Amino acid sequence: MTNYLWINPVSAALYEGDTLDLAVRNKGFLPVQCQENHIEIVREKYRKAIARSSGCVVDMRCPMAAQYIKEKFDQPKLIFPDIHPILIHCARELQKRYTEDGAVLTVTTPCASLKLLGESLGLPGTVFLTWNEFVKEHKIALERKSLENSPIPPGFFDDFERDVHTLASYQEFDAFFMEQKHRDIKLVEALYCEAGCHNGDGILEEVAAE
Ligand code: SF4
Repeated sequence: MTNYLWINPVSAALYEGDTLDLAVRNKGFLPVQCQENHIEIVREKYRKAIARSSGCVVDMRCPMAAQYIKEKFDQPKLIFPDIHPILIHCARELQKRYTEDGAVLTVTTPCASLKLLGESLGLPGTVFLTWNEFVKEHKIALERKSLENSPIPPGFFDDFERDVHTLASYQEFDAFFMEQKHRDIKLVEALYCEAGCHNGDGILEEVAAE
């Protein structure tokens, strides 16, 4: 049985050169990449969501952020489009390509919330693990770099022509929505972790050690 592995971009950025590639191959995994440009596919879906919405579209790429905003501030002027995160788009493509004939695809995530979302889809032959879970389970103890930025930093929608506002941490959510600032814009980018997924609970080593 072949074990395929998708290493999310945040996890891949934690290591120098090809050390990670060699380490996972030594553990019996074959690393795979997406062929489709899911970043642009997702951007285009948001362009269309904005065009057909009369309120403020909420960024759904971060499940934690979307859930927090929906539970606390749901109202008619906030639109929660049915658009999956980029990681889920990637997982769906890879699942179609690599899980025939009993092969297993492991998809690594930067946080528990993306893992749970992936698991909720019930994709055949596909396992979702946070990066910290994966390296612990397979005893991969390579030295990690400290990441200053996420590979997909805040500003994902900056080239949109319409009004967009970025909330780059959950700490910015309450004031923004309580002051009704979403009423003046077409889309709110929302990331739960400070400045993006390099601070996810499936990446940070101090979280893993708790
Ligand atoms: S790592 Fe943090 S910012 Fe990225 S999707 Fe998960 S909760 Fe959101």
